[in-house]
Formats: sequence, C-alpha cells, structure tokens
Amino acid sequence: MTAATTPPERPAEVGTVFDAVVVGAGFAGMYMLHRLRGLGFSARVFEAGGGVGGTWYWNRYPGARCDVESMQYSFSFSEELDQEWNWSEKYAPQGEILTYANHVADRFDLRRHIVFDTRVTAATFDENAKCWQIETDRGDRVRAKFCIMAVGCLSAPNRPRFKGLEDFRGPIYHTGEWPHQGVDFTDLSVGVIGTGSSAVQSIPIIAQQAASLTVFQRTATWTVPAWNETLTPEYLQVAKANYPALRAKARGRPTGFYFPFNTQPALEASPEDRDRQYEEAWARGGLPFLGAYGDLLFEKAANDTIADFARGKIRSIVKDPVTADLLCPDNVFGCKRLCVDTGYFETYNLPHVKLVDVSKTPIERFTAQGIGVNGIEYLLDAVVCATGFAAMTGSFDKIRITGRNGLTLSEKWRAGPRAYLGIASAGFPNLFLITGPGSPSVLASMIQAIEQHVDWLADCMGHMRDVGATSIEPILSDEDAWVEHVTDVSTVSLRSTCSSWYVGSNTPGRPRVFMPYIGGFPVYVQKCNEVMSGGFEGFVLEGAPGRNAAPQVRYTERWRVPIDIDVISPAAVAARRVPMV
Ligand code: FAD
Ligand code: NAP
Repeated sequence: MTAATTPPERPAEVGTVFDAVVVGAGFAGMYMLHRLRGLGFSARVFEAGGGVGGTWYWNRYPGARCDVESMQYSFSFSEELDQEWNWSEKYAPQGEILTYANHVADRFDLRRHIVFDTRVTAATFDENAKCWQIETDRGDRVRAKFCIMAVGCLSAPNRPRFKGLEDFRGPIYHTGEWPHQGVDFTDLSVGVIGTGSSAVQSIPIIAQQAASLTVFQRTATWTVPAWNETLTPEYLQVAKANYPALRAKARGRPTGFYFPFNTQPALEASPEDRDRQYEEAWARGGLPFLGAYGDLLFEKAANDTIADFARGKIRSIVKDPVTADLLCPDNVFGCKRLCVDTGYFETYNLPHVKLVDVSKTPIERFTAQGIGVNGIEYLLDAVVCATGFAAMTGSFDKIRITGRNGLTLSEKWRAGPRAYLGIASAGFPNLFLITGPGSPSVLASMIQAIEQHVDWLADCMGHMRDVGATSIEPILSDEDAWVEHVTDVSTVSLRSTCSSWYVGSNTPGRPRVFMPYIGGFPVYVQKCNEVMSGGFEGFVLEGAPGRNAAPQVRYTERWRVPIDIDVISPAAVAARRVPMV
C-alpha cells in the first residue's frame, strides 16, 4: 500500500537547461534550492512526493515526532525564521514539522521551482557537454551543469519479502509510506513487525485503538523516555533570546546539537555515583541519556553499566517477567540508533498487547488471516511493517546514475558506498550528495548536517562560477583515503559491532560497511573547511586557470567555529589521531 494519490496531469518538460537540478524536496532539497536561488542559479527540484518535507511528508504513522528537540531540529540559517516560528512541544509531532516545512517553502518562495509527484529515474553525465541529463517517470528530460542528490538517508522503505504476502486479506502498511487519510484501527486485531524508532513511537498509540495488538520482535530495542512536554510562551521567550548562542554551541558539538554532556568516564565513577547519574539522566530523558558519561560508546565495560541500569528500568516497568526478559536487549546500549518513547514499555502491561519473539524462529509466512511463526498462526486484520529503510544508499540505488565511461554509481558502490567527504564520488563530476555516506549525516542532528553540506556546496558552486570552472570531481586517491579513514574511525566506537542500518545489515544482500562518519561533526566540518580553504584540496577543477584557488566564502563562515574540546567524543579524538586525509 502506498501513500500516493493520483498526481495531476502535466506536460513533460523536455530540453530545458538549468544550472542545477536537485532531486528531493525534503529539508536538504529545500535549503539547497534556497541557496541556489540566492546565488542567482537557475534550478529545478524534482520530488517524488506530492509536497515538501520529505521524511515528514511520508512518515505519517501515529506517534511520529522528532527525537532531537524541536528548538534544535529546525533550520538555523535564518534568525528571522528562528524568531518567528513557535514550536508547541519539546518534540514536535509529524504534522507540525510538516507545517513548518511548508511554511519555509512559502516564506522563501521555493515552490515555483519544485515539480512534485515526479520521480527521477536516471541521471547521465554527458562528457562532451560537461552536464547532466536528468530523466523522470513523467517523461521529463532536462539538462543541468550540477546534479544534486537530496534524496534522504532514510527514504527508501525496507519491505521484507515475507512468504505469502499476497495471500493476506487485510491491509499491510509501512510506517514510511503512511496513508494521508490516516488509519483507524478501532476494533481491529493489529500486528506490528519491528521494534525500532517507528515501532516504538506508534505501538503505544495503535494499542490505544486496537482490539488486540501483536508485536513481532526480532531484536529488543533500547529506548529512553522522551518526557515530552508543551513549550510555554515563557520558555520560548527565554530560548529565543538565546537562540544564536544555542545554535553556535550546537555547531561545536559532536552530534551537531547541544545537550549537557559529562566527559567523565563511567568506569572511573563509583557504582553509587553512576546510579545517581543515570537516574538524573533518565529523568531528563531522550537521546542525551547517552551523554551521562564520556566512555559509554567506546568501552564495553562502561556500556555494560548503562545497559544494566536500563534493563533494570525495563523490569521495573513491565509486570510480566517473561515479557520483560524478552524486552531486555542483550546488545550494546545505543549500538543501533537509540529510540525515544512515550509509554512504550508500559504498553506491554495492557491485557490486549502481546509480544512475539521472532529472533530465533523468524516470521514464516503471511496467511490469508494473519502471520505464522513457529507453527502458530496469529490472526490479524491489519499489519504494520515498521521495518525501516534501506538506509543511506537505498534511494541512490533506485536511480540509474551514470558517470564517466558509462560507470553507474550502483556498480561503483557494489562493495559499499565510496564518496569523498560524503559529498561527491570520483567518476561522477558535478554530482553532489547531501549528507551522503562518509559524512556525519545520521549521527548528527540532520538538519544541521544538511545545512553545513548545502552551505559548502553553495560556496563551491559559486567559486566555480567565479573562476570559470566547468567541472569538479574528487581525486580517486583522496576519496580512497577518506573512505578508509571513515572505516578506521568507526572501529573506535562500539556502534560498529552490531547489525544495524548504520552498517546496512538490516536489509539482506548489502555489504557490511559502516556508512556514516563517526569522527564527530565539528572534526568533519573542520576538514571540510580546510579542503575549501586549500582551494578544494582532493578535488580536480576543470576549466579553471592555474592551480585551485581559495574561494570567496559566502555561506560557510558560520561553520568555522572552534571545536568544543571539552565535550569532544573519544571517537573524534581518535579521528584527530588518525592521519587526516
Ligand atoms: P528526506 O526528508 O528523506 O527527503 C528526501 C526526499 O527525496 C523525499 O521526499 C523523497 O521523496 C525524495 N526522493 C528520493 N528519491 C527521489 C527520486 N528518485 N526522485 C524524486 N524525489 C526523490 N533526524 C534527526 O536529526 N532528528 C530527528 O528527530 C529525526 N526524526 C526522524 C523521524 C523519522 C520517522 C524518520 C524516518 C527520520 C527521522 N530523522 C531525524 C532523519 C530525517 O530523515 C532527517 O532529519 C531529515 O528530515 C532528512 O531530510 P532530507 O531532505 O535529507 O531527506
Ligand atoms: P529500524 O530502526 O531499522 O527498525 C526496523 C525494525 O524492523 C527493527 O526492529 C528490525 O529488526 C525489524 N525488522 C526488519 N526486518 C524484519 C524482518 N524481516 N522480520 C522481523 N523484523 C524485522 O527502522 P525505523 O524504526 O523506521 O527507524 C529508522 C530510523 O529512522 C531510526 O533509527 C531513526 O534514525 C529514524 N527515526 C527516528 C524517529 C524519531 O524518534 N524521531 C522515529 C522513527 C525513525 P532488527 O533490529 O532485528 O533488524
């Protein structure tokens, strides 16, 4: 089942030439468009969905909301925007974030450059003309000097091919393509497959409606209470008065957002102090729980202390000891993306909610009336697949991207994605990736990661125009060194040890590669700044006279912040020890 409605008819656009084509109109595509227009470039954005907002357009499942606080999970490029927008809750719900995205589109007059309901199917580099030909599923064929992929890290839904799917008589939903009209589960027996962030958010709400709820769990999840709350006018007033300082502090943090962070190692604290510290951090809730100590993601023995604490919390909430045991993860705390919930574990105390372990005996098949596991048929009226995404590369794989010498990006990335700084890939001149693999992306607050990439790209494209460069492309040896560095740094973190979507192993058949850059956002930004100041070191610029010159900095100035060394993560420190390429 998809969320799409029939798009309005329109004639195909053939032959138009733009300075840039942007694929995707989520936060990345929108901000890229804004910067391109600011530089006076002509641009066309193609968006598969019927509106802006990307993630927040598609993921309309019950309970969907951000888990980075809204005051920080928002654009920071316009102080006026920061001041005029009022978030209603600490973690805004999906509908409000989508309204914000629409507000940004209107306020910055973006819509007239975006074509909706249109999926880009192919992008081919014309070596003679040094431009990209872009094709869509609506018959459009346009050309552009730059092709910018703003396709999202979590935008290609993972739909496991369970046996018998076609036999099932009821509807099957995916959280990442939720029907726009909503779904009423009243009086229904509902099955939810998955226990990641989307499941953790939706399960408590679905349980309120459904007659019965059966959750199929393959891996128990670590989740921390959100303690979401309404933001009062007084709070907003104070926060807004300090907004520029907050934004600046956030840029110096390993995650690109600000929260209290204790650099002391857990292993140096006494058990009593640790318990006190964990209780306080649990009471604050959310992702900052992982900031209780500095070594939690780097020392297994330290991680065991927070894992034991969190397991204790699960057992204190869930009344049935068998269910509580099943809900207690046995992997590294925070190894997979940490979840943030409201009433998740409490939901399993409801008499009509059942947990089915599919870790050792996987889902066998769908039947006409439900799901079969280990010889038992669970009778269901509707199923929700909260099964996540082919993360980081899934949306690239769906486009036939052909660079120099007929090489496709999918072929080049068969053994894992390869991109210099996660921004561009050798053999694909003038093709840019926003939050691509090899950049902090999903390990940072993503809107900040997006803004930093877009500002860098805007300065890069502005510079190319200034000096008359026709193309830019990474030097293969620099790209190889960066890819190796990304892998080296990942081994410092315990996050590299489990089968998460960070390493692509949530979906079958993909190579196991740690895809995001875990060296910390400011360390990465510093590297990007150095590359730019050095005249785009590691890139070849064709058409420009002489050696690469340092560019005029138009937009990246705000990213030149000192690294907040007091809170730098051990991974980031390690990143500085590993020779920077
Ligand atoms: P997206 O929002 O994914 O947008 C990409 C767009 O590209 C989509 O609209 C898609 O339709 C379009 N597209 C893709 N391929 C094509 C094609 N071939 N042709 C045309 N269009 C195409 N991050 C955080 O930092 N904090 C959070 O709290 C947070 N919460 C999240 C909650 C959910 C439910 C999910 C799924 C993700 C969340 N994320 C969060 C990550 C989130 O994806 C990013 O924060 C951000 O919204 C990504 O923006 P984007 O523009 O890069 O990608
Ligand atoms: P996810 O974290 O990848 O979770 C998918 C779940 O489906 C996992 O529990 C997985 O089990 C299970 N699964 C997948 N295939 C299965 C199969 N064949 N059989 C049984 N179970 C299967 O996906 P997600 O929950 O959509 O979240 C993805 C990311 O989006 C998050 O990590 C986060 O970055 C972002 N997000 C954020 C929020 C938020 O709070 N703001 C909300 C939603 C999403 P395994 O663990 O065993 O693979």
